[in-house]
Amino acid sequence: MLSLDSPISSLSGIGSAMMAKLAKLGINTLGQAVQYYPFRYDNFSQQTTISQIVVGATVNLVGTVDIISTKRSPRRRMYLTEAIINDGTGQLRLIWFNQPFLTRNIHEGDRLSVAGKISQDMLGVVMASPQYEKVGQTEGGLHTQGLVPVYRTVSGISTKQLRSIIDQALKLVDLADWLPASMISQRGLWPLTQALAKIHHPDSLASINKARQRLAFDELLLLQLRGQLTRQAWLTHQAPSIQFNQALTKQVLASWPFQLTDDQRRCAWQILQDLSHEQPMLRLLQGDVGSGKTAVAMLAMLNVAVGGYQAALLAPSEVLASQHFQSLVQAIGQHCSIGLLTRTQQAFSQSGQVIDKITKVKLISQIASGDCQLVIGTQALLQEKISFHHLALLVVDEQQRFGVEQRQLLLNKKLFHPNDSKLVPHFLAMTATPIPRSLALTLYGDLSLSVIKEMPAGRLPVITKVITAKQRQSMYQLVRQLLGAGQQAFIVCPLIDESDKLTAKAVTTEFETLTATELAGYKVGLLHGRLSSADKQTVMADFAAGRLQALVATAVIELGIDVPGATVMIIESAERFGLAQLHQYRGRVGRRGQQAYCFLLSDDHSDLAQKRLAAVAQYHNGQELAKLDLAWRGPGELYGRAQTGFADLRLASIFDQELIIMAKKTASEILAKPAWRQTIAARLTESDRASGWLPQ
Ligand code: ADP
Ligand code: MG
Repeated sequence: MLSLDSPISSLSGIGSAMMAKLAKLGINTLGQAVQYYPFRYDNFSQQTTISQIVVGATVNLVGTVDIISTKRSPRRRMYLTEAIINDGTGQLRLIWFNQPFLTRNIHEGDRLSVAGKISQDMLGVVMASPQYEKVGQTEGGLHTQGLVPVYRTVSGISTKQLRSIIDQALKLVDLADWLPASMISQRGLWPLTQALAKIHHPDSLASINKARQRLAFDELLLLQLRGQLTRQAWLTHQAPSIQFNQALTKQVLASWPFQLTDDQRRCAWQILQDLSHEQPMLRLLQGDVGSGKTAVAMLAMLNVAVGGYQAALLAPSEVLASQHFQSLVQAIGQHCSIGLLTRTQQAFSQSGQVIDKITKVKLISQIASGDCQLVIGTQALLQEKISFHHLALLVVDEQQRFGVEQRQLLLNKKLFHPNDSKLVPHFLAMTATPIPRSLALTLYGDLSLSVIKEMPAGRLPVITKVITAKQRQSMYQLVRQLLGAGQQAFIVCPLIDESDKLTAKAVTTEFETLTATELAGYKVGLLHGRLSSADKQTVMADFAAGRLQALVATAVIELGIDVPGATVMIIESAERFGLAQLHQYRGRVGRRGQQAYCFLLSDDHSDLAQKRLAAVAQYHNGQELAKLDLAWRGPGELYGRAQTGFADLRLASIFDQELIIMAKKTASEILAKPAWRQTIAARLTESDRASGWLPQ
């Protein structure tokens, strides 16, 4: 038996090219392969014989190939491969388009299992573009029979290849349960081996649910255990006590162009209270996009700096880090020194003056000496070889794991207070993830919670419209009017391919079309994942400063970006996005109180797609939308679009109330029982490592 840690190359037929492609999916080990779950299933459970087929049904049948041949269709210039199979009860015609290589793989006399929809064309009954595989006399098919798993993949790995790889891994790897059998059975859960086998190859829809339940429980339990263990470790330390400087805080607030909302005030107060204690703060600040979380964090950072300590703010991307740097310099730069340090950028500001030309070495030495009081960076900052003079506050922005990793890394590195290893900084995570308060408390019980509910005064609800093909023209007309009046528009295109090549091509095409037609003569920028980091920043900076009127971007555009003049959000193929995600995009326009618009474009006319988009127009609440998305999950759809983007939760959802409560109780029980605590904590790090969850 192979172990979960064994490299994926231990399977037969996996060379270096395939390994590189699998790595893109996050599959480097066998453990990662068996935990690469399908997002839906093709239902080929209806097995039938040719004599019994009905037009319109999706079926699986097994027969022998009587004839197979490929020809070129004269009119449409494509390859047509036709075959006749025979199962003893009758003959059926199969047809494939543009797969000329099929005739090399399938030969007359082969036993073939095929699955697909029965339809009718001019020549009679046919199964078009069937899934197929050769089978022996006895064994079943992996690709054409029963509920067949469908995985997300990248170009270069076919679904069939991926399915075979995962299936091989399942057969070869030792899947011993990491939890005691009694604990699992008491809770009515399936053993791990069974759950993993059935999530990939379920016998029925009910077995998908049972399998999902066990695996989701594991995710939630891990989250709880890691959270609780980290909290315990963190709380054995002390943090510097930071005094609230009321006079300066008031003065700074008076210099800002807006007044804090009551919610911002309350959250800032809670944070400043925590900072005054020696017990390290562990707090989550939650608020919808645009609710003004950064302003709250700034007040905390300001007090830390003037109190004689350092604070660091980690952003999820370089673009956001440089945006945060600029807002901090503007808002509190008069009162403290601020550094920006990312992979490609460094800047330093003192008394509100920005020095652009500081070297990395110099900046790092100023961080080490304490001359740089506030440090803005990306999460990679923690991996850099920097040390702080005396870091008293760490703020992590827009992140979905609520800092368990960062905290573990920091504890291990002891990089805050080189002279006093007992000290850790206070910790603040910020998120726009829509999660109900009671659940947040259970799910992230290791963090205290501050919530900003109300939006800054004067924000108008974004007018949201689902746009049909016919309305496109008039939509662009309105957009041109708004651009003419000095406003700005985002045009977001969906991520097509995880490798990003196709996506970049698609947005580039969209950009070229738009600038040649509807937006000809306007200043339009282009942003996608394949641009260099410097180019991305230039484009973003030009857009934020109003030098560009519109921006065509992929869905990777930075979460949380703040473009003052943006009032239009156009989303292409909107049906491909999660509803909560659409809501987050919408939150990026109209941030200065202007009337803003969100246009949802879609060619998908199915009832479900229309219903989903209509919901975005109707509800202006991320939580509500996330819930609806989950409720409307299609049959056999495991998570798909409903996913709210939690890095740790793949099968579990934030609405799995019962499982969350069960996981929390179980985690406390495990940690309270010395024997369990030991064995499971040991397994925990092992399995965490195997799945890449923990830094090695
Ligand atoms: P998020 O919570 O999404 O991180 P930001 O902190 O980026 O939100 O704030 C969004 C915008 O709203 C910023 O430009 C900020 O200056 C502004 N803002 C923050 N608080 C207020 C307020 N109380 N009134 C008006 N505008 C505000
Ligand atoms: Mg933000």
